[in-house]
Amino acid sequence: MNCVVGLRCRECGREFPAEALHVCDFCFGPLEVAYDYDAIAARVDRASIAAGPRTMWRYRDLLPVDGTSAVSLGAGCTPLVRADRLAAALGLGELWIKDDTANPTGSFKDRVVSVALSKARELGFKVAACASTGNLANSVAAHAARAGMASVVLVPRDLERAKIAMTAVYGGTVVAVDGTYDDVNRLCAELASEHPAWAFANVNLRTYYAEGSKTLAFEIAEQLDWRAPDHVVVPVASGSQLTKVAKGFAELVAVGLLDGTAEVRISGAQAQGCSPVATAFAEGADTIRPVRPSTIARSLAIGNPADGWYALEAVRRSGGAIGAVADDEILDAIGLLARTEGIFAETAGGVTIATLAKLAAAGVVRPDEKVVAIVTGHGLKTVESLAASVGPTATIAPTLAAFDEVVDDPWR
Ligand SMILES: *Cc1c(COP(=O)(O)O)cnc(C)c1O
Ligand SMILES: [Zn+2]
Repeated sequence: MNCVVGLRCRECGREFPAEALHVCDFCFGPLEVAYDYDAIAARVDRASIAAGPRTMWRYRDLLPVDGTSAVSLGAGCTPLVRADRLAAALGLGELWIKDDTANPTGSFKDRVVSVALSKARELGFKVAACASTGNLANSVAAHAARAGMASVVLVPRDLERAKIAMTAVYGGTVVAVDGTYDDVNRLCAELASEHPAWAFANVNLRTYYAEGSKTLAFEIAEQLDWRAPDHVVVPVASGSQLTKVAKGFAELVAVGLLDGTAEVRISGAQAQGCSPVATAFAEGADTIRPVRPSTIARSLAIGNPADGWYALEAVRRSGGAIGAVADDEILDAIGLLARTEGIFAETAGGVTIATLAKLAAAGVVRPDEKVVAIVTGHGLKTVESLAASVGPTATIAPTLAAFDEVVDDPWR
């Protein structure tokens, strides 16, 4: 059994049973999973976690599913890489990359989907569904195949080719919609009430789905020998990941796994072509004005972010900031991360690193801080964005002379 006491409305605090519910009947606020932290504290310690599987399910006591029934392709326990060359390039001190490109379908979405589909199977759903900007589609289709469930995935039609292929290959139903992600999401909200037997990972199962992102915080703390970093930089689409990374660090303190108060500053990263949360932060506003996205960072292109306000609040409370970067800065940052650390990120990773650079230059992220940047998706997913900027150094005939003409050897 897990230590979930139920679902709780984030606005009015009313409690609900742990079923496939995501909004409060009374005030329409979003629901959140509530736990008995004393019961968790009595059950887990650092040694019991260390004895668990080398996946995100080693933290099963802090997740809303019985670990025994997990739908898993092995997500989590991704590398935390010390990034000294990148730190030097950005004028920072101790910098780490949380490399979530290493997940089974190449993005952090495997964490949230593993939780959502585990819960869906536990609740008896036979069909997994979602509205996706791409990575969620890949992960839902793959985990549904793993679980022996059917899948129905809706995406904007102009998605990157790799993300369409990485969804369709798993054999589910893939529907390309002529519209933006926000159009797709609205359609899925309607579909969810038409098809109550479908588990939409980010609609009726969203309360559980969101909990998967906490494992990023759990892993970062464990990989730093159970010390919290000073500052974490997180990409923002709907704002769910950022909100739950903050919740994850707070929970580690609540159950006694982290000493002290774990005051982690959290900063957010957006693309200028879709930056409603960064704009609200810059203006000191309390509401988030929806935008129509136009950016190469397709996986972050949510113009009307469901958890944007909560992300904004978590950033403000922690003393962080939210930055936004242009498409050419995103491409430069993809190259910089690859050249300095050997990590190939998709456009969302470029957004995180470019924003980190900007916040470092502004003195918001400081050289005396222990900093973690979360890189959330693999570069092979968005290769077309690099088509104009990467290619062979030279193309030659198969002769020594031709080679010598184009490559000289300073290392001789
Ligand atoms: C979905 C996604 C995010 C963040 O999404 P939220 O909706 O803010 O939780 C970040 N990076 C990548 C690559 C994603 O696919
Ligand atoms: Zn409520």
